Amino acid sequence: MDNPQIADRLEAFASLLELADANPYTTRAYRRAAETIRGAAAPVAELVRSGRVRELRGIGPGIEARLRELVETGEIAELAELEREVAPDLVGLGRYLGLGAKRSVELARALGVRTADELREAAAAGRLRTAPGIGPKTEARLVEALSRETEPRPRRGLLLNRAWELVGGVAAALDGEAAGDVRRWRDSCELLAVVCAATEPRSVLARFAALPQIVAVVEEGERRAVGVTVEGVPIEVVVAAPERFGTAQFRATGAPAYVAALEPLPDAPDEQALFRQLGVPWCPPELREEPFRDDPPALLGEDDIRGDLHCHTTWSDGRVSVEEMGRAARERGYDYLAICDHTPAVGAVPGLTPTDVRRQAEEIEAANESLAPFRVLRGIECDILADGRLDLPDDVLAELEWVQASVHGGQRMPRPEMTKRVEEALRNPYVRCLSHPTGRYINRRPENSLDLERVFEIALEEGVAVEVNGLPDRLDLRGEHVRDALRAGVEIVCSTDAHSIRGLANMTLSVATARRGWATAAQVVNTRPLQSILTRRRARG
Ligand SMILES: [Zn+2]
Ligand SMILES: [Zn+2]
Repeated sequence: MDNPQIADRLEAFASLLELADANPYTTRAYRRAAETIRGAAAPVAELVRSGRVRELRGIGPGIEARLRELVETGEIAELAELEREVAPDLVGLGRYLGLGAKRSVELARALGVRTADELREAAAAGRLRTAPGIGPKTEARLVEALSRETEPRPRRGLLLNRAWELVGGVAAALDGEAAGDVRRWRDSCELLAVVCAATEPRSVLARFAALPQIVAVVEEGERRAVGVTVEGVPIEVVVAAPERFGTAQFRATGAPAYVAALEPLPDAPDEQALFRQLGVPWCPPELREEPFRDDPPALLGEDDIRGDLHCHTTWSDGRVSVEEMGRAARERGYDYLAICDHTPAVGAVPGLTPTDVRRQAEEIEAANESLAPFRVLRGIECDILADGRLDLPDDVLAELEWVQASVHGGQRMPRPEMTKRVEEALRNPYVRCLSHPTGRYINRRPENSLDLERVFEIALEEGVAVEVNGLPDRLDLRGEHVRDALRAGVEIVCSTDAHSIRGLANMTLSVATARRGWATAAQVVNTRPLQSILTRRRARG
């Protein structure tokens, strides 16, 4: 059993515990342990066998016992028992229909049904209204949803990392290809799809229905099916005849408006052939939003990135030391990494005072001695105070090699004040880059009320770059805004805002988001060599 498999089982266990109303503390502990195991460098099965697994963060005796059982027997007995008890397929179907986990289980009990199919039968027979709490309105809604012919969508979009995990996992298990929103790297994914090639679709559809990720199949046709996960997220699988695979993948990738403009589509075995037959240059999926048939620009690639300019360490809320982050960045093939810990105004987590900044400098110097010629840069993620001043004095900022400025608190400010606040900060001669400019958290917090057009104007005047933050719940700026910034002549920085070694891998998400904004390598600051970063002078110096 490899680390991802072990992590998957622990996560499944956590989900089932949650459905069974277990102590939320326990559920969280299992989720955290799963995350640790996914990111662990050593094979966890071996650590379990040699009795060393508790050296990993967050693994106590209880979880160790489960891990031992899993590694020795290939299963966790209580997990299998929970699966029988809480009927995750019903819960998945219920969530897909808009019912909470508890209500799904209650409904199933009241109707005496055990599986998703039985629930559908009960609905068809008009029995839903016999369950307590289900009025005619709810019944009508559920029946409609169960028979819906519109495209299935989750209740809310999935974060890109989670969507890739799900779609990529299903695609790999079925020897298919990812399609839908993830393939276009949308920041929040609603249409999740996998496309497979097979002359005989039945065995592929059967394998799909049997996947551990899929708890219930809600629609099934001759060459397609829609399954839902335990969270109620629908995912579609399309099985195309091999000679039509390219056409099917193209359609399933979308976006609908882009596809519609190229209709009618010929049958093609792969996308390259499809584009050739259409007489249109191949278009990267990230650009397939609006109708487009011209030559695409040579988009930025992850290989173009020479360093990461925004990450945290144990000096603020990061998990590892300066040297460990530097080493990990060097292993990724970078030439440099800027350490940008927080300043005190951030509040919830520790922030660096001027004294701390200078103490950290010593640690950075030591790291540079051991990592040379790789370079750890002295940076900061400096809070922008409510009045636009920065949270550190200019003489401290002047010592630093890379200054990010960020709005964290007081984000509900009216638009004119917020714009003024950011403008003030950009006027500071030491600021090099504006972090997560809109401040949104996908699905959780809307964008700050901010005049971005004005911000780009000032950024251009002052020679400040804007960030494309790669945290999966930020992706800020998003693609459309990246495009606006670049059109305004402003340069961007692709950063991860990593708080752990694993976080450095979010560069993939940042780069994909920049690509959605049509970015080329020349427009991205951190595609350039170290010397150009160090000598990057502000317009007004
Ligand atoms: Zn921040
Ligand atoms: Zn940060």
